[in-house]
Amino acid sequence: MKFGAIIVAAGNSTRMASQLPKILLEIDGKTVVERSVKAFLTAVSISSVTVVCRHSEMELLKAVFKDYDRAINFVVGGETRQESVKQGILNSPYCDYFVIHDGARPFISSQLIEAVCRDAEIYGASAAAVRVKDSYKLVDSDNFVLESPNRDQLRAVQTPQVFERELYLRAVEQAESSRRSYTDDCQMVEAMGHKVHLVDGDYRNIKITSRDDIEVARGLAGEGRAMRIGSGYDVHRLVVGRKLILCGVSIDHEKGLLGHSDADVAAHALSDALLGAAGLGDIGSHFPDTDSRYKGADSMELLGRVCSMVGREGYELQNLDITIIAQRPKLAPYIADMRDNIAVSCGVAVEQVAIKATTEEGLGFTGREEGIAAQAVVLLKKI
Ligand code: MG
Repeated sequence: MKFGAIIVAAGNSTRMASQLPKILLEIDGKTVVERSVKAFLTAVSISSVTVVCRHSEMELLKAVFKDYDRAINFVVGGETRQESVKQGILNSPYCDYFVIHDGARPFISSQLIEAVCRDAEIYGASAAAVRVKDSYKLVDSDNFVLESPNRDQLRAVQTPQVFERELYLRAVEQAESSRRSYTDDCQMVEAMGHKVHLVDGDYRNIKITSRDDIEVARGLAGEGRAMRIGSGYDVHRLVVGRKLILCGVSIDHEKGLLGHSDADVAAHALSDALLGAAGLGDIGSHFPDTDSRYKGADSMELLGRVCSMVGREGYELQNLDITIIAQRPKLAPYIADMRDNIAVSCGVAVEQVAIKATTEEGLGFTGREEGIAAQAVVLLKKI
């Protein structure tokens, strides 16, 4: 089943009293819309990401996402939310389901996206919602209480909301023919008589509507500021007829490491440690060895790309420590050059880079000189 994300960023900011559209305001160094879209770019179920925006803001939004590897479709929205979502769906690659999300909900997690997608596969229509904490009152136009609904039965609906494509488009058609315009996609689908199922949302998944919300969001973003540790390990086989490259340094030896890329085992272990610390998977998933683009690839260049990805997640590298395990050759004469190379690729000072080499006393595959192994540990800080 294919799921396409539609991020609705076409609303106006009348409640914000700000020159900049609310989706372009920054929370802890990253715009609201970037935070709202980011989780969809890494969610495993999502096969395409479409941002629906105003024509006048499209160039600004494209600039926000210019450094992202994954393609994002930008579609001009309509006068109403309903029309915007419809345009998004009709101008996206075909998907069985569409995952609609507010561009002003910057704290969406990939776990919640997955949960709503799985639920929609069963019920056709699903949305994230949280139990309400306050008591709610239904009032008349003079503010007199008409009714006190039972709190246990009340939910505050969030996004993502996920709908089977044809179901959603039928609901839009029916709304259009009855001249209704819904601001809540669930309500539009309900109006057609289809039951919408709710899954437990996230209280952090707030919607930015007023200036106060920006302050709350900045607090929430700071809350997650933390140190993150990552470890990486890699092994490559030693063979005759290949160059030996470690941390980008060519090493004089009668054998070299075998691999799809240049087989720089130390750069690979470090890349994995960085991706691990940032929760971004591993190098195999980003640069698969089945992809001919990475044949003979310069692993230091891939390391640079990994560092950019980690930086985009808002992390700063504090220090790194690599251990290379090789019986031969002696690596001591090369360590200084290796540290320089790694420091340049990672954009840090040489003092933040430690590289050590050890043998395993003739034991195991490294001892028999069948291969070289490398381990790396990194520490990242959220900035
Ligand atoms: Mg490797």
